[in-house]
Amino acid sequence: MALQKISAVYTIQYFMPDLQAASQVNLEEKFTLELEDCYGGQVTGEDILRTDIDTTRMNQATGPVYVQHLRRGDVCKVNIERIRLKRFGIMMTSKGLGVLGKEVTAPSTRLLKVDEHHVHLTDDIRIPVNPMIGVIGVATEKEQIHTAIPGVHGGNLDTKEITTGHAIYFPVFQDGGMLALGDMHAAMGDGELNGTGVEIGGEVTLSVSRVANRHIAAPIVEMDDVFLFLSSAATLEEAIEVCAKRTVRHLQEQLTLDFQTAYRLLSASCDIRISQVVNKLKTVKIVVPKTVLPKLFR
Ligand code: CA
Ligand code: CA
Repeated sequence: MALQKISAVYTIQYFMPDLQAASQVNLEEKFTLELEDCYGGQVTGEDILRTDIDTTRMNQATGPVYVQHLRRGDVCKVNIERIRLKRFGIMMTSKGLGVLGKEVTAPSTRLLKVDEHHVHLTDDIRIPVNPMIGVIGVATEKEQIHTAIPGVHGGNLDTKEITTGHAIYFPVFQDGGMLALGDMHAAMGDGELNGTGVEIGGEVTLSVSRVANRHIAAPIVEMDDVFLFLSSAATLEEAIEVCAKRTVRHLQEQLTLDFQTAYRLLSASCDIRISQVVNKLKTVKIVVPKTVLPKLFR
């Protein structure tokens, strides 16, 4: 049977408690979401500059999808099964955009050819394709949060490990979860230093599992050999502190450790890395090896 496909005409601009479902799926059912690029398809040529586009239409997420039998208070595990990219990516620079935004004197736009293996930055420079999902999240507990902002519900996490073959866990704040995705990149480095990835549309095939009677404070990515604990805050320093606190709490709970031992374990075995430094809230990730924490929940 063909997978259910949810069209990119169904989008949200805010993650909030009351969202109208675009579609319903079952637990463990594979389904596909069509994603526009983060500019909503407005950039059709290199003559279109960032100053020309309607920025209120940026960063929309396709969905939301109601997952049956997922209940408020659960944890959900979103398995990213497959990503298909369109053939062209977009990179815009603009005054004030990214960490060197002050050095940009005039805006410019490049459309970059993307083939199966490479993004062609220039005729001479090509970089490996590394597809990733910039915006992924669920309905919030109370707040209305723009899709350009990250948080405990997910949102604009811009974490390059959110990709094929990996999973991401979210706390479920509302029945059905209400999952939405957008802002795909054909490639992006840690930090997203100029303010954009290789922005691109495409399709993502997913499935969602339910983890009942468990708790997490914020999104966690699962890879083959590690977990990434994600946290976002106004500054990198704050994000690091919040992330360390959440990770230590989780290690204490799951490994039955006192604070001092979990704190030592964090310092001796876990790396802190940067996801992105260009959104309103910055996102960091603490890498917890599975040699330390074999399963997220015992
Ligand atoms: Ca983003
Ligand atoms: Ca982006």
